[in-house]
Amino acid sequence: MADPTYDYDVLIIGAGPGGYVAAIRAAQLGLKTACVESRATLGGTCLNVGCIPSKALLHGSELFEEAHDGTMAKFGVKLGSVELDLPAMQGEKTTAVKELTGGIEFLFKKNKVDWLKGHASFKDAHSVVLRQAQDERDVDKTVTAKNIVIATGSSVTPLPGVTVDNDKGVVVDSTGALALDRVPTHMVVIGGGVIGLELGSVWRRLGAKVTVVEFLDQLLPGMDGDVRKEAAKIFKKQGMNLRLSTKVTGVTVKGKQATLTLEPAAGGAAETLDADCVLLAIGRRPNVDGLNLAAIGLELNARGQIETDHDFATKVPGVWAVGDVIPGPMLAHKAEDEGIAVAENIAGLTGIVNHAVIPGVVYTTPEFAGVGLTEEAAKAAGHELKVGKFPMLANSRAKTNRESDGFVKVIADAKTDRVLGVWAIASVAGTMIAEAALAMEFGATSEDVAYTCHAHPTHSEAIKEAAMAVRGKAIHA
Ligand code: FAD
Ligand code: NAD
Repeated sequence: MADPTYDYDVLIIGAGPGGYVAAIRAAQLGLKTACVESRATLGGTCLNVGCIPSKALLHGSELFEEAHDGTMAKFGVKLGSVELDLPAMQGEKTTAVKELTGGIEFLFKKNKVDWLKGHASFKDAHSVVLRQAQDERDVDKTVTAKNIVIATGSSVTPLPGVTVDNDKGVVVDSTGALALDRVPTHMVVIGGGVIGLELGSVWRRLGAKVTVVEFLDQLLPGMDGDVRKEAAKIFKKQGMNLRLSTKVTGVTVKGKQATLTLEPAAGGAAETLDADCVLLAIGRRPNVDGLNLAAIGLELNARGQIETDHDFATKVPGVWAVGDVIPGPMLAHKAEDEGIAVAENIAGLTGIVNHAVIPGVVYTTPEFAGVGLTEEAAKAAGHELKVGKFPMLANSRAKTNRESDGFVKVIADAKTDRVLGVWAIASVAGTMIAEAALAMEFGATSEDVAYTCHAHPTHSEAIKEAAMAVRGKAIHA
């Protein structure tokens, strides 16, 4: 029953995967719900300038590369001359974004969630000031709610000495790199993480020379050590130049050209590198500016994040938070699951997210995926381990498709056989990893996975074989 003291039972700030999912779930549970969004469309970073547009360009550029590099011809598909129509590829991306963001608008209407357009900042723990543009001026309006969920997401981490100008298209962040109207001649990517490798792959496939400058001695921090080593080999083989253990100290721009200054990460002689496009991708930071958290006495942790308990409640009664703005991996599906859980907790149910089982996927070719602990983290946590590995080269489907790069690695506790982590490099690793997440959610042992019948011929058989390899009993390797 709605509390008449407030305009809403639940007000959510931000309509990304955390916020829009929380709003829909809250409304499904009978709560009077509104969601504030300052962007012109719903869906947040993910649908507008993240997951969806990047996957559209990854798909388009993969088709282009397969047509161009002879992969299709090898399978008997002769195409004649292959040309890139970049405006059409960008147009297809824009259509996908429009369809999906429009889909959220439809779901809001269907579930009776009010979309409040504008920027929200706290007045007190139960009210926000909503700033809306009306007739070319800003109008402030106060909206009250019994519960307020902060789901404001994240934005690009800046690098001192590097000025991003997405309109100019020379020094860009991920949003600019998704919207380029030309294929760069030389793109330098600052940061060998997920964004750098996905968007670097897009432009390499379309014809750019790509150099990735990474501060650490390996790509993809957070992934298993074997996966990171293999990633460097695979991206090098694909033609990317990797400058590991190197930092960028500044970028100067003259007209359409940029000059980067690089130094060894440990310090040493500086050098320069020229590029006609620089992509800054060194991480993301929580969006908290402009929320006026001081008004509710909510402090941030040392990383600028909002801390919550397991129920996603902050220290301020009635104020909750989910998604990129709180600790944990900055992933859309993590934000979504937290959105569902927070709505259920507000409704008096029990909403739980198992943060130990959140899969992560890098959508390059091949894909890199993992769930649970890395071998390094499992050892550091004191586990005695048994590890099974199976190469995709020995998987019949991958071999037939000529997609033999990669492997699956199953990490199990030596005493209990409980699966602690699964890592995969395979053309469809992102799809394969769902099985590993489900197995771990149900507390599976490596033997459980090994004795589960897998359809043949599928890439997923490599997970079964890697689980069999934990006891040294893989069949095909
Ligand atoms: P967001 O999606 O950032 O949404 C927050 C929303 O809040 C924004 O729309 C913002 O405008 C709004 N907002 C902020 N402050 C206010 C305010 N005061 N008032 C009103 N509105 C406000 N993750 C994956 O899992 N898979 C992927 O493939 C993937 N690809 C990505 C590719 C790129 C290029 C990028 C940048 C990110 C990618 N991510 C991916 C990460 C994913 O986008 C984020 O983890 C996810 O969007 C976080 O969801 P969120 O709801 O916490 O925040
Ligand atoms: P990231 O944390 O994945 O990678 C950033 C990289 O930049 C790191 O390897 C870091 O060591 C390096 N770095 C930092 N400072 C540097 C410097 N001065 N010079 C050179 N290298 C430097 O961050 P990202 O790639 O920007 O992605 C941001 C977030 O978005 C990630 O947390 C990721 O989870 C999310 N995302 C996810 C997906 C996906 O799930 N497929 C795709 C894109 C983005």
